[in-house]
Amino acid sequence: MMVMSDVKRRVRFGGGREVCCLGMGTWNMGVDAAKRWEEIDAIRAAVECGMDVVDTAEMYGNEEMVGVALEGLRGRVFLVGKVLPENASFKGTIAACRRSLRKLRTDHFDMYLLHWSGPYDIRETVDAMEWLVEVGMIGCWGVSNMDVERMERFMGVNGGCHCATDQVLYNLAHRGVEYDLMPWCRDHGMTMMAYSPILQGELLRSDVVRDFAAMKGCTPSQVALAWTLRNPCVMAIAKTGSARHVEENMRALEVVLGEDELEYLDGCFPAPRCKVPLDTI
Ligand code: NAP
Repeated sequence: MMVMSDVKRRVRFGGGREVCCLGMGTWNMGVDAAKRWEEIDAIRAAVECGMDVVDTAEMYGNEEMVGVALEGLRGRVFLVGKVLPENASFKGTIAACRRSLRKLRTDHFDMYLLHWSGPYDIRETVDAMEWLVEVGMIGCWGVSNMDVERMERFMGVNGGCHCATDQVLYNLAHRGVEYDLMPWCRDHGMTMMAYSPILQGELLRSDVVRDFAAMKGCTPSQVALAWTLRNPCVMAIAKTGSARHVEENMRALEVVLGEDELEYLDGCFPAPRCKVPLDTI
């Protein structure tokens, strides 16, 4: 079993507990019954090697399976869940959270996110999130897929300043948030959560990433992850249903990219020079 406690970079959400900067995503897990035990093993391997953030959502339909995977490990996990926008009224958010916790066989989320903007007044959702914190059903709350304008709106409502993160698409090929959202998060002392850091596997097929990895003596997934994690106010969640890939991904935390290497990657995957609409998947 790999133990890498000394090389892990830690991040914090708000004043909460420190977690590893690389977490485990679970979207598209729990879909194929034939892969169930392999995926459960992968989630358990992630936690065992210190990837303590596990990210799920009511939308993924896999909370029961994630609950099974976390049996006996819950105390070591920073569990992230998400409410669907169409459920994000005051009562709906609380009911969705309760439903998800039941499926996950736990009594709290460490962090609960609004998955994306929806039909309800954000004051209702924020009130519900604050209520959930008060009663201990969630440790803290945040949002996902919100641009700077939406984040400002959250900050403007009562309790909105307790928002602990924005979970957004961020990887070598989708760098729009570097222009405005990432500096905004930094200025607000907020850790940004990068989802799809290897672009659902697509970056692993890029010749640039593959050649760079070969030259550097690491793997393409490690290049993609090390690049996403180079900024101290960013943590990333990568999904893999393979314990072998978990180990490979965790080793990305040992990969250090030098100035000249970052410049080379900048040339191949340039950051936008002006504001662009927030990318989502
Ligand atoms: P991702 O993590 O960028 O990529 C996942 C894909 O990469 C899978 O096909 C996986 O295949 C492959 N992969 C991972 N490590 C690998 C390795 N070492 N070698 C080869 N292939 C590897 O994509 P994602 O799942 O879209 O994003 C990560 C997580 O972010 C999601 O699971 C979810 O929790 C969250 N997310 C949130 C939102 C949102 O709206 N908030 C949207 C998208 C995603 P294997 O399983 O075969 O390893």
